[in-house]
Amino acid sequence: MIDLHTHTNKSDGTDSPRELVNKAIVQGLTVLGITDHDTTSSWQEATDSLRGNLTLALGSEISCLTEDGVSVHMLGLLFDGKHKQMQVMLEETRDGRMPRMRKMVEKMQAAGIDISMADVEAARPDGATLGRPHLADALVNKGVITSREEAFQGMLNNESQFYVSHAAPTPAQAIAMIRSAGGVAVIAHPFASHRGQILKATDFQELVNAGLNGIEVDHRDQSPEERAMLRSIATELDLVITGSSDYHGSGKLNLLAEFQTSPGQWEKLESLADKRRVVRA
Ligand code: AMP
Ligand code: ZN
Ligand code: FE
Ligand code: FE
Repeated sequence: MIDLHTHTNKSDGTDSPRELVNKAIVQGLTVLGITDHDTTSSWQEATDSLRGNLTLALGSEISCLTEDGVSVHMLGLLFDGKHKQMQVMLEETRDGRMPRMRKMVEKMQAAGIDISMADVEAARPDGATLGRPHLADALVNKGVITSREEAFQGMLNNESQFYVSHAAPTPAQAIAMIRSAGGVAVIAHPFASHRGQILKATDFQELVNAGLNGIEVDHRDQSPEERAMLRSIATELDLVITGSSDYHGSGKLNLLAEFQTSPGQWEKLESLADKRRVVRA
């Protein structure tokens, strides 16, 4: 069982890296990808918690914005965590999430909603990449809404009056950085249309030119038709096909390993990194 896309409480998941590794071992996963948003801060604890036969593919889900302002998530796996420019890029994105959150909170206050930055900070685990799910948790704590799910169906979705984007690299810039740090780049849920505007089929060639290695095809936010379309794009462009859960602990309905990557596709993906970077106990 291979699941290449999960989150811990170092971003907007709810399990600690140790808890996630333990769950993966208990459920019998063979490869676990840990991909917290715009950070590698889960890597050390996950590595220290590793035992048995589980293999770790450490990575990060990098927030990107196209020139047209479309939000894209790029999974970087198996890159060098000590790569200076990569860490600078991730840090710049994390830094931009603070003023962005302040603006969202101000918009809500202007609409008469009882919420403050202190409430959001109280809902954010230590050292976690700040995101809308923490604002959702703060709103739940305040009794404004009842769940993250409700937040993303309404006041926190990309089309909401309260939504503000944050500075981020373009998808091509993120891919180039992942590759120069020795890793592999897989575009996450590219056709997850309910999140707002999405990529077009013709956008993929440019990403391949930038060094894209794979497409996340099997993901709960993509319909069977969207998956079929992505599968044919991946085949045509000779890209690796992945499937993953995007597990967030209790922060989302997604169950660990609910979608998986085949051993053959994983082998191909791993061979595209500049060296053997998987972590074994
Ligand atoms: P941000 O990066 O701050 O723009 O927030 C986006 C994050 O919200 C993504 O990591 C998603 O995983 C998460 N998210 C999107 N939809 C939902 C949902 N329905 N329930 C919980 N979390 C969600
Ligand atoms: Zn998330
Ligand atoms: Fe994502
Ligand atoms: Fe994710």
